[in-house]
Amino acid sequence: MKKLIPSLTLLALLAAACSTPPISDTGPVILASHSILADVAREIAGNTVAIEPIIPDGVDTHSYQPTPQDIARISNADLVITNGFGLEPWMQTVIQEEGFSGTVVEATSGLQPMMETQDETDPHFWMDPILMMQAASNIEKGLSSLLPENKDLYASNLGAYTAELKSLDEWIRQVVSEIPIEHRLIVTNHHTLGYFAQQYGFTVAGTILEGTSSESGLSSKHLQDLINLIIAKEIPVIFIEPTDDANIAEQIKEETGVRIETGLNTHSLKINGTQISYLEMVKQDVELLRSLGE
Ligand SMILES: [Zn+2]
Repeated sequence: MKKLIPSLTLLALLAAACSTPPISDTGPVILASHSILADVAREIAGNTVAIEPIIPDGVDTHSYQPTPQDIARISNADLVITNGFGLEPWMQTVIQEEGFSGTVVEATSGLQPMMETQDETDPHFWMDPILMMQAASNIEKGLSSLLPENKDLYASNLGAYTAELKSLDEWIRQVVSEIPIEHRLIVTNHHTLGYFAQQYGFTVAGTILEGTSSESGLSSKHLQDLINLIIAKEIPVIFIEPTDDANIAEQIKEETGVRIETGLNTHSLKINGTQISYLEMVKQDVELLRSLGE
């Protein structure tokens, strides 16, 4: 792969020399690409070890580039939990070129990606709690292999967390059953709910941006097609996230009268300054979608 930043090594050395000390002076260093994976990993690890996200909450996950401090942390880590499905293309570069000697656990290992285009994979598997069960199992294997003395605890915590994911899944199915099928049409800013929609019988009718990334483009033809679709299908609401640019949604609102719901959160566990769990994030999103049935 093409080297992302020519002087990664130098930057890492500089960062190592002047940054904060490692997360733990005694235990292993475990990092996860983003806070959702870190939250799931903490559920399994309990209080045996610290797990920190690399991409901070509230920062655009798709356009993120590692800082010199991140590169130093990754180089020094014993275990890195990645998302996979094309979310963090920079990770491979850092791991291959920066002296990383730890273990990589890909959360999506064993899962089948949804293809957005022939070459583009949809990374948002985490919005489907059933797929998260497999990811949690992958993470448990990685933790148990790193810290075998805790493997019974990790297996037990995985069992408890899987039960919570199962309860969440059953609750979502109950909520969705109350939404008439013809109302199960979702419009979001970028294509974040593909896996969720497939699991729970929704259709992603359209997205403001033309793809699975917040960096995806937008053409005037795409915008006009979306406006026509919202009118034709009488779609009542567009779901956008606090970090999204609301200007285009406002433009669509002016043309169609559609309502804009800004409370969707699919990438961050920090909402208005409050830290929530992955389970709470999904639950809040489903509560928002409930309005489609009204
Ligand atoms: Zn996204």
